[in-house]
Amino acid sequence: FKKLKLEGQSKDELMEMGMTFNDMIQLLESNYKSQEQFVANASHELKTPLTIIESYASLLKRKGLDRPELFNESIEAIHSEAIRMKEMTEQLLLLAKHKEQWNISMEVLDLSELAMGSAKAFRNAYGREIHVNGQHEVFGYSDESKLKQLLFIFLDNAQKYSDDRIVVDVGSLKGEGYIRIVDRGIGIAKDKLPLVFDRFYRVDAARNRQGGGVGLGLSLAVEIAEAIGVRIELHSVEGEGTTAEIWIQREVTKIGLC
Ligand code: ADP
Repeated sequence: FKKLKLEGQSKDELMEMGMTFNDMIQLLESNYKSQEQFVANASHELKTPLTIIESYASLLKRKGLDRPELFNESIEAIHSEAIRMKEMTEQLLLLAKHKEQWNISMEVLDLSELAMGSAKAFRNAYGREIHVNGQHEVFGYSDESKLKQLLFIFLDNAQKYSDDRIVVDVGSLKGEGYIRIVDRGIGIAKDKLPLVFDRFYRVDAARNRQGGGVGLGLSLAVEIAEAIGVRIELHSVEGEGTTAEIWIQREVTKIGLC
């Protein structure tokens, strides 16, 4: 009886050890996976400001001596993008740890101004025509840097998957401000649309390899939107184009906007 009891005990202990071991492996595996994802994520998000810096630096290199008027604009863009990269690196480091530690600073933002500033930086970097239809006095309550990051993800996709001009509409409806990014590009098939927010998902991986991303932009967009209290929607018709919408709350009670 004693022996059986002992055997029983050691069996339990063995099972417990086995479970602990499995837990440890799972933890190690998930840490490894999230680390891998973090590296890919970081590279993707740092690509946009790096492209802007690279394009201005090469512009200065090619034409800077003959056209000194380019100097101020280029240095300003390089400087502000370097700051953006620094901020983004810090934020990505936070993202790799805990989202609760993100340095979110909510404030009332002029959405037209924000959209026009982002569109200008984007236009200069990619040489793409971006038309902004901005209403006056459209405000939203959010985090400026993260909202810009979100807008850049959608602008980046619009320029990657369309050749035509990109339109950005800013407006308000039923107490919410919105920024809408419209492209007339390749669009996304109806059955693929719910999948594009998954990490590493690309509709056509082979076609997207050249100039395309790694399929992290939209999954990061979901995380950013959640953190800064905005809603995102993606509407698309294959072969016709895509519309991305960012809906931003106005802080009605605190600041008396309506
Ligand atoms: P990626 O960096 O590959 O663009 P995203 O997560 O931003 O990653 O997007 C996932 C996939 O959704 C893309 O690979 C692309 O196939 C599709 N997609 C996203 N935005 C658009 C768009 N504006 N037009 C067409 N396809 C898009």
